[in-house]
This record gives sequence, C-alpha cells and structure tokens, in this order.
Amino acid sequence: MTLDLTAIYKDLHTNPELSFQETRTAGIVAGHLRELGFDVTEGVGRTGVVGVLSNGEGPTVLLRADMDGLPVQEQTGLEYASTARGTDPDGKDVPVMHACGHDVHVTCLLGAAEQLAAEKDAWGGTLVTVFQPAEEAGGGASEMIADGFLDRFPRPDVVLGQHVAPIPAGFIGLTPGPAMAAADSLNITLHGTGGHGSRPEATVDPVYLAANVINRLQGVVSREISALDTAVVTVGQVHSGTKNNIIADHAVLGLSVRSYREEVRTKVLAAVERIAQAESAASNAPKEPTVEYFERFPVTVNDPSASERVATVLRSVLGEHSVLNPGPLSGSEDVGEFATAAGVPLVYWFLGGGDPALAEIVAKTGRMPDEVPSNHSPFFAPVIDPTLGNGVKALVSTAREFLG
Ligand code: ZN
Ligand code: ZN
Repeated sequence: MTLDLTAIYKDLHTNPELSFQETRTAGIVAGHLRELGFDVTEGVGRTGVVGVLSNGEGPTVLLRADMDGLPVQEQTGLEYASTARGTDPDGKDVPVMHACGHDVHVTCLLGAAEQLAAEKDAWGGTLVTVFQPAEEAGGGASEMIADGFLDRFPRPDVVLGQHVAPIPAGFIGLTPGPAMAAADSLNITLHGTGGHGSRPEATVDPVYLAANVINRLQGVVSREISALDTAVVTVGQVHSGTKNNIIADHAVLGLSVRSYREEVRTKVLAAVERIAQAESAASNAPKEPTVEYFERFPVTVNDPSASERVATVLRSVLGEHSVLNPGPLSGSEDVGEFATAAGVPLVYWFLGGGDPALAEIVAKTGRMPDEVPSNHSPFFAPVIDPTLGNGVKALVSTAREFLG
C-alpha cells in the first residue's frame, strides 16, 4: 500500500465542502486515481469524478462514494476536527462538517481502487469508481446521469456502495429489498385574490384555502394508502400574509413526503397535487396552484439475490456474525439513481463506524444506546481503525465477487 488512508481521511475530515462545491476533494480524488492508473474524468455532474480501470473481458462493476459535507458546526473535539466554513445556496456563511461521514466513503473507495489496481492479475472486467457530489441535497447522482454518465462511461452490471453508520465497527447493516425511504420535498403555492380584511367577499382568501388543503392532506395516508404500506405527509411550513387586516393573494405550503415503494410514492404525490387543485377550485381561486419539487430521493431498493451474494462475501471477510439486517430506514439516499438509470441491481450497505466496544452493549440490550451520536450530529465521529480497513475490505471483496 502506498496510499496513507488515515492521513487522507483526516485531511478530508478537516476540509469538508458543501454540496456541489467539492472541488478540493475532487482534485485529491482525481490525483490519486491517476497515479493508480485509472482513466479519470473530472467535472461530471458539476463536481463529480469518474475513474475507470479496464482490465480485459468481464463484467462492469460500479463502486460509488459520495463526497459532500453538511452545514454543521463540528463539536467532536477531535484533533482533526473541522473549523471550515462555506457559503450555502442562499449565500449564507455557514460552518461545514463531514457530519454524515462521506469522508469515510471517499477514503475507503480510494483504498479499494488502489487494492483492485494492484490485484489486476486476479480479476477481469471493468471497474468504474464514482465519486458523487451533492448526496445531501439529493441532486448529485441525477446531475451526473444528466451529464451523460451512462453514455460516456462503461455501463455497469451492478452498483455497489456503502454508508458509514454508528453501529459498532466490524458490523455491516444490509437490508434486502426496500432499504431506505423515498423522500420528496415540495412547495405548493396556492393562489388567491388579495384585499381588505373587512371585505372577504371581494377576495379569494388563500389562508382559508391553505387551511382546508392542510386538513384534507391528513386523509391521504389514512384513507388512500393500504394499512400494509407506509408513508408520511408532513406540512413543515406555512407562509401567508403580512398584516391582520389584509387578505393575502397567495399562501405557500412546504411539504415533506416519505414512502417505501415507488407505487405508493406516485399515489401519495398525485393525491397531494389533486387535493391542492381541487381545494383551489372549491375556493374559486383565480388560477391553479403551482407545485415545485426539490431535494428528491428515490426509494433505495437492494436487489434481493445480489444482496445475498454480498452478505455471503462480507461474512467471509468480516466474520460469520458481522452482517445484520436492520430493516428499512427512514433516511434517504440517491445512490439508487445509478442502478435505476442503468436497469441493474443495487446493493447498498451500512458500514459500522462506531466504537467496537459498543458491540457488547448491543448484544446485551439488542439495540444501540440512544446517546451514541449518529450521522448529521455535530458529535458524529467514526473510529478510524478498524472502520477504514473494513470499508476497503467490503468494497474490494464485493467488487471481486461480481467481476470476472
Ligand atoms: Zn447525510
Ligand atoms: Zn450520507
């Protein structure tokens, strides 16, 4: 090994970058990949990096890592803690931290790239390493695909990736089937006609309209979705008006929708739009509501048979009892965009990054202690050893399983 993964990790951790601003990280990644003999393309989907290693006949395996940090003020107290600042999409100066552990993902994928390049005699096929921007904002994978990812690079036969989690290092969480929720953020602007608060008859009151929409939305999951399915519709923001005696001309609702099956997702979103339109018509609104989607994540679905192969391989390298099935999680991911676009299986697992001593507590109580900081916490601090080593092993062994 020539790459010093601990040094790379600490450097990335100290220097996190916000979504679509990962230029320093991308430069480091591209430099190492070139030294390892990969064919490297930068600027894919703005700040993404793709490294391809062609090694004769055989399948094509895509290994994916995401690169972005979060607007969080780090409070871990680590000697390599971040004090970085960045500018968010609204132009605001914010602290930046690798609070989701994407620095672990980048480091492990570089380590795996190095090892697979060194072991070229032992496998055949094509390795495609993807260093994706902007997972947190949900646009990174789709932006790479929109930038011609599938046409410009070898098409994968399988997509593999991992996310560090607070579970004890040495363990892997792998849920076959739906593993993470779909998430959709949407803003609905309801249009009314403004006027004096004393003369509602001369207006279409968007506050009353909004109240009816919010009320009616509570029936989407309870009346239109099967008891065997799961979905959440939350109105997290309502904005309208400027003064008590003025009827505003519009109201804006900010919604967050989660679901675990594409059919349910489609049905819930259609119902939300239908209700906004129908209530607008019921209020005699001057025009139809405007619906704007952002921060969208598909359901992350692990292919059951590919997951079984991955689980078997991971047990063989990390230990017979190392692979757990945590069931579906309510968090969201966009790694599935690559597999869906290529029409191939996805396997995405959670890499234990917590103190290995936690294993004893988990074994006794059957659950993680609540006080252990998890992803997005200002205290989230994966242990370096053995997390990085395990992450490299997991990527190398599973890639080898699917390569020729
Ligand atoms: Zn995250
Ligand atoms: Zn993440």
